[in-house]
Parts: sequence; structure tokens; C-alpha cells
Amino acid sequence: MAKFKTLADFQDEIDQCVKCGGCRAHCPAFGAEKHEGRVARGKIALADSLLKGEVDLEEKFLLDMSQCLLCGSCYSQCPNKVHTEDIVAATRREIANRKGLSTFGAGVGTILKHSKVMNLLAKGGGAFSKLLFKQIPEQSGLRLRFPAPFISSDRTLPPLTAKPFRERCAETITGNADMPTVLFFTGCGINFMYPEAGEALLKALKFIGVNVIVPKNQVCCGLPAVSAGAAKTVESLAEENLAVFQQYEYDYIVTACASCHSGITQIYSGLGEEFAGYQDKVRDIFVFLVEHGFTEKLAALPKMKNQVQVTYHDPCHLRNHGITKEPRAILQALPQVEYIEMEDAGTCCGLGGTYSVYHYDTSKKIGAKKAGHIADSGAKLVATDCPGCIMQLQDSINHAGEKQRAVHILELVADVLPE
Ligand code: SF4
Ligand code: SF4
Repeated sequence: MAKFKTLADFQDEIDQCVKCGGCRAHCPAFGAEKHEGRVARGKIALADSLLKGEVDLEEKFLLDMSQCLLCGSCYSQCPNKVHTEDIVAATRREIANRKGLSTFGAGVGTILKHSKVMNLLAKGGGAFSKLLFKQIPEQSGLRLRFPAPFISSDRTLPPLTAKPFRERCAETITGNADMPTVLFFTGCGINFMYPEAGEALLKALKFIGVNVIVPKNQVCCGLPAVSAGAAKTVESLAEENLAVFQQYEYDYIVTACASCHSGITQIYSGLGEEFAGYQDKVRDIFVFLVEHGFTEKLAALPKMKNQVQVTYHDPCHLRNHGITKEPRAILQALPQVEYIEMEDAGTCCGLGGTYSVYHYDTSKKIGAKKAGHIADSGAKLVATDCPGCIMQLQDSINHAGEKQRAVHILELVADVLPE
């Protein structure tokens, strides 16, 4: 049975925080708001007080705990390697235990847990796209025509697809006998919003002869529910996905979404022993491609004359796992790309799951910094490896009045491969 650790299980880690403040300068929420309650040591102190019964779940406590993107930037700077993001997530679960989930958290939990409902909502959004959304003139993306709960009317949204990715492809795609077999964990972002990235991934794997399984019955990894504190939803989704992982024979599980990668590695590994056997099999697609000689194959293609300037944004959920070189290696090997490194490529984009819903104004401030770095780089495209980041980056670029496009790296890869 998948089961999260409780907040009390984190007491030893909480005690490891020496309040040095080394993480302060690297916290995007603190950078935007300059408020001690936003920074890691403040949240850890609050979690400690809650465990000791010294605070109530009053409004200020709830606000401070909601002001964290779970980005893990503090962890990478922490001398004692305190996982603040896990402590905050455990505190949110504790809050949900004591007070119940927020309306939004309960809604997220219900939709994610019922994949058929999610499928219907996404397909409905895709089919009635013209009625529901308006195109933003001369910019990439859509905005809602009508007011809707929890979605700001000035937020750029990607189009939903009337035909999700997993309905577009076969469940089994045969490659070469001497090549490995991978299970593609698509995630919801690629399935419902960026199916072209999924198709591009299949094209890349076909190019090197990899065998692919795309299980139709896989479900959301559960990461959005982690952010909302909806523990039971995550536990039940993890069990469903574990049953899928056990159903097939394969060498690797590949992801093309940083959040899914983090969900099925970092989050699932904390849910019980039964998940342990799958952690070593999980590969981000660019790690997998680099390991299987794809970079050399791309580099052998003739360089194109009119290259496009592209920069890269590190999704927090890959950077935290040390995956920074491989996406860049693929971009730099693409014949149509002139790669430019932007300043602070590794800082959070400001999405943070439910964070950008509850704190859209702060999320926009964080995104504005990133949009500035993209513009300063001179790149025409910002490429990344996470559907959530693509959505947030495009929103930030549009708010800045700039013209760059946010894309998945896989889309650029597919452009140079044969059909
Ligand atoms: S996880 Fe990110 S937002 Fe939360 S405290 Fe750490 S650096 Fe700040
Ligand atoms: S979380 Fe780590 S870096 Fe931040 S104050 Fe605590 S010990 Fe220092």
C-alpha cells in the first residue's frame, strides 16, 4: 500500500536546519516577496512549531505554507541537505488532515483520480476550443473568453487537444531486436496539451530503433496533488501506475516531463518499498538519448545555414536530479540550432503547481525575471523539457510583451528527423 510519510517522520530533518539562511538568496518566493515567512528556514520553523503544538492553523500560517513552489532550490544550497520542499509538502498534508482540503485541492484531487473525467474535460476543451478560448493576437497561446474559477483571465493557456496523445499512437511500437524496450510514461501535459511532443519522442526513438510501449491505462503521476496536499489522491495514482509498471516487460521507463520524472522517482520512492525496484529504470528522455548515441547521430547531420537562436530553461525537477547537461547536449547537436546560454537558466520559472493558482501575482513576478533573461539572451526560442514550464514561460513572455516562443526540445528534434 502506497503511504506518504507524516510530518512527524520529518522531525529529524527539521532539526537539521541550523537557520543559517544560506538558501535565502536562492528562493524564488523570497526573491519576489522579500518576506521571512516565504523562505525555507521560516517554513521549517513553522512546521516544527506545528508539530510541537505551538501554533494553530490560523490564516497567516496557511498563507506562509502556501507560499512555496516546492522547487527545491533551497535544497541544492543547503549545507545540511534539508529537503524543505518535502517538509512543506508534508505540512500541507498535515493541514489537509486537520482541516480538510481546500476547494481547489479537493477539485484537483477528484479530477486527477478519475482519469475518465479528465479525459472528457480535456477532449471537451479541445472540441470547443474556439468557443472557450480566444487567440492572443500575434503571440503564442490562448486566453479564456469567460471568467473561470482559479484561472486568471490574463493567463496564457496552451490549446487542449480533442485527440489525446495516447489515443493517437499504438500501444506497442516495434524497433530493432538488438535495441532496448522503453515504457513511455507520457504524463498529462503531453497527453492533453502537447501531443506533438509525444509524437516527436516516438520519432526520435524510431530513428535509433528503440522498441516502445505506451500503456493506455497509465494515469497522472500525481504531482499536482502533492502540491495541493491531497495525499490520498497521490497514493492511489501511484498504486495504479505501479500496477502498469508491473504489467509489461521493458528495460527503461522514459519521461519527457520534468514533473513526471520527479513524481515517479523522488515522490514514489517515499511511498513504500514496492516502488524501489523501478527507480533505477527511470530515464529522462534526453538522458536516454545521450546514453544511446543520439547526440553523435545528430552531430553527423550537416549544419544548416539559417540557424535559429535557441536558449534552454532548466526545469527545477530536472536540475534537482542533476540533469542539466543532456538537454543542452541535444540542443547543441541540432543542425538548425545556434545555442545560447541565458543568465540564470536554472532558476524557477514561477509555476510551482498550485502556487501559480493561489499566488498568480507573485508567480508573474518570478516569471518576469525569467522572461527578461530570455529576451536578453537574444534567442528566438526558449526550449525546455517540461510541459508546465512551457506554459509558464510562454505566459511570462507574453506578459513582458516579447515575441519569443517556448517549445519542447523534442519538437526541434523532430524537425530534423526523417518521417
Ligand atoms: S522549495 Fe523553493 S520556494 Fe520553497 S522554500 Fe525552497 S527555494 Fe523557496
Ligand atoms: S534550510 Fe539549509 S540553508 Fe536554509 S536555513 Fe536551513 S540549514 Fe540553512
